[in-house]
Amino acid sequence: MKIIETHHIAKVYRMGNNIVNALQDVTISIDRGEYVAFMGPSGSGKSTLMNIVGCLDTPTSGTYSLNNHLVSEMTENELAEVRNKEIGFVFQTFNLLPRASALENVALPLIYAGYSRSEREEMAMAALESVSLADRYHHKPNELSGGQRQRVAIARALVNNPSIILADEPTGNLDTKTSYDIMNLFQELHDKGNTIIMVTHEDDIAHYSHRIIRLRDGLIEWDRKNENINRGR
Ligand code: ADP
Ligand code: ADP
Repeated sequence: MKIIETHHIAKVYRMGNNIVNALQDVTISIDRGEYVAFMGPSGSGKSTLMNIVGCLDTPTSGTYSLNNHLVSEMTENELAEVRNKEIGFVFQTFNLLPRASALENVALPLIYAGYSRSEREEMAMAALESVSLADRYHHKPNELSGGQRQRVAIARALVNNPSIILADEPTGNLDTKTSYDIMNLFQELHDKGNTIIMVTHEDDIAHYSHRIIRLRDGLIEWDRKNENINRGR
């Protein structure tokens, strides 16, 4: 079943007299449960595409459907709900609240979703368990390693049981071994049926995914099944 469909989307940024065609003509279709990497050189449009897919930005032209709903026809409230409940975001810089514990960070999206405090704690604990960090629930981000922080961020992305996990350079701030640990965790999430889309410019990281879409100058250079899946080491 299709979960993401972009139809000839373009994105133009205007800055004074400068016009940047960040995306020129991008048509992609992603099924539920796929594990996809967006690759391409710096400036090729990966983050722009990711932001559109995550409903954080809108295309200048073309259409985007998420779960068979046209995003351009959603109200602000519907969009906020989709961003909170349907999509789990993972960032290169983790984006954790520094003064909050791991548990509080993970529970954050649940506040907006309207769960009670005890429900939030229970769900956040379960999410921390799924990334093998339950024993660190009371630690603050600066008491955790980079890899552990990213696992907290992944638990936060998972806690609402979203349809899609979007990860923008999730290993960009991690050493090689920790990066592979995070990729093994993504593989587990994929095995459980999660839809994962990640942006990376690292070839060996991209090869953990099952399909690679390579962008260049805002266009799809190629889009193919990964025949050479990296299964960890
Ligand atoms: P990538 O993630 O592949 O590095 P981006 O999507 O960030 O590429 O950027 C694509 C192009 O759009 C680049 O030329 C970039 O400078 C430009 N761009 C991205 N975001 C903005 C913005 N908010 N305003 C103006 N130009 C932007
Ligand atoms: P990464 O683990 O992504 O390389 P760091 O540079 O933060 O990120 O961590 C390097 C190593 O130091 C890690 O293996 C981690 O176990 C340890 N470490 C980092 N920060 C802390 C901390 N605050 N308390 C204990 N150990 C830490």
